[in-house]
Amino acid sequence: MLDTAKMAEIIRAIAERMEAEKDYLTQLDNEIGDGDHGINMARGFKAVLDKLPELENGDIGALLKGTGMQLVSNVGGASGPLYGTAFMKAGNVLKGKSEMEAADFAAALEAAIGGVKLRGKSTEGEKTMLDSLTPAYKALAAAIEDGANLKDAMQKAVEAAAGGVEYTKTIVATKGRASYLGERSIGHQDPGATSSLFILQEIEKGL
Ligand code: ADP
Ligand code: MG
Ligand code: MG
Repeated sequence: MLDTAKMAEIIRAIAERMEAEKDYLTQLDNEIGDGDHGINMARGFKAVLDKLPELENGDIGALLKGTGMQLVSNVGGASGPLYGTAFMKAGNVLKGKSEMEAADFAAALEAAIGGVKLRGKSTEGEKTMLDSLTPAYKALAAAIEDGANLKDAMQKAVEAAAGGVEYTKTIVATKGRASYLGERSIGHQDPGATSSLFILQEIEKGL
């Protein structure tokens, strides 16, 4: 079971992780983009942290929606509106809830992915954050279906996301800045898929 206070703790941990991985994510983006993904994520989540004392007074839906709004308005890059939409969509699903079960979490992740796809006009296999988020969701949903609790299901989700990050090295980017490189994007790991893995890892750790 995951309540608002725990979700707020997880968001704090995500913000710390983005700050800690700033240089690494930026280095990945240097190879196939414009070298700002770490800076974007750290800046966005710093803005979320600033607002957290206010946001954590609401329910989980309001907390996630506010997180998304901070990301949209404080990150200039593609990832800001995409992650922002993801958190806002998750927030919509959890509107009015002060605690959630595994099935609620899965529904929120599914909605988050749907938001990214719609906003990014993107799908799996294009070397984006969707290549870690989508396999993570599938693994999560399958584990829950098999009766796993949220913590165990999230462990499966994180494993699948890690596999997805590896997979991004083998494919051509067809969305975002990396798509400008065409075939030359092969061999490089997608920065957004990597930050998504880190976010999922922090959620799993916080459960
Ligand atoms: P920008 O490319 O504007 O500098 P960032 O560097 O912060 O933004 O984020 C780049 C990441 O955003 C990519 O690694 C990729 O995972 C993700 N991304 C870019 N475009 C899309 C899209 N259309 N759909 C999903 N994810 C995308
Ligand atoms: Mg970039
Ligand atoms: Mg940029």
